[in-house]
Amino acid sequence: MGKAYLVGAGPGAPDLLTVRAAQILTRADMVFHDALVHPQTLALAARARKILVGKRSGRHSTAQSFINKRLVDAARKHGVVVRLKGGDPMLFGRAQEEIDALRKAGIDFEIVPGVTAATAASAELGVSLTRRGLARHVAFVTPRAGRGERRNDWAASVLAADTAVIYMGAGLAEGISAELVARGKAKATPLVLVESATLPERRILRGTLADLPTLALQAGGGPAVLLLGEVLRDAIADRAAVAIPEIQAYLRRA
Ligand code: SAH
Repeated sequence: MGKAYLVGAGPGAPDLLTVRAAQILTRADMVFHDALVHPQTLALAARARKILVGKRSGRHSTAQSFINKRLVDAARKHGVVVRLKGGDPMLFGRAQEEIDALRKAGIDFEIVPGVTAATAASAELGVSLTRRGLARHVAFVTPRAGRGERRNDWAASVLAADTAVIYMGAGLAEGISAELVARGKAKATPLVLVESATLPERRILRGTLADLPTLALQAGGGPAVLLLGEVLRDAIADRAAVAIPEIQAYLRRA
């Protein structure tokens, strides 16, 4: 019997991988990976058979139950089986379903954490998500729910938190902005959209909650997080300067 590893690949840049993850990848016999994992990260698994099971919202992806089954079957046959996920596997990565399947099948497993998109974006902005006296409550939320899934009140968490990081939200910008404003969040709340954090194609779009729909239109369709809260006040102050090249690039594409 082999062992299965649920490994965080980090937010994008291949050198933002833990040493532990790199060592496991070099020993891997089989790697099931997400669509967003960097080719250089995959290349570390030189011996492994690599299988894309990745998800990008709105596009075709392998059914979760099928991934669970393949993972279990592979771990029964092979020595080192890796499930490589973007960011940290334990945040918005459906890791629990895979963990439950491995437990149920009696397969030994280990989780290797990774750098999640929220902290990668915070690092790129040079803005701490917490701040003494200003922000002691950070919420990681997503408004996106799968078909048939119970909806939760993500907006209540954003309203309560000092700083909010919204995952998988760029495509829902209009709804997010409208709902938060309708429920009393100030339109002037500083907001930054960080797309493709840590990668060369990274984009940072700065504004306020009211600007969100416009900012999202300027984004390029890569993975993006929305950061919201007073800690971002200074980061949006110079937005005119940054917005101009972004807008020009947008107009050139349009
Ligand atoms: N487990 C991942 C999240 C998976 S959900 C993690 O811990 O980061 C996918 C969402 O993560 C994307 O829709 C986007 O909101 C965010 N994301 C992933 N990579 C990103 C990146 N490089 N820059 C900005 N957001 C990213």
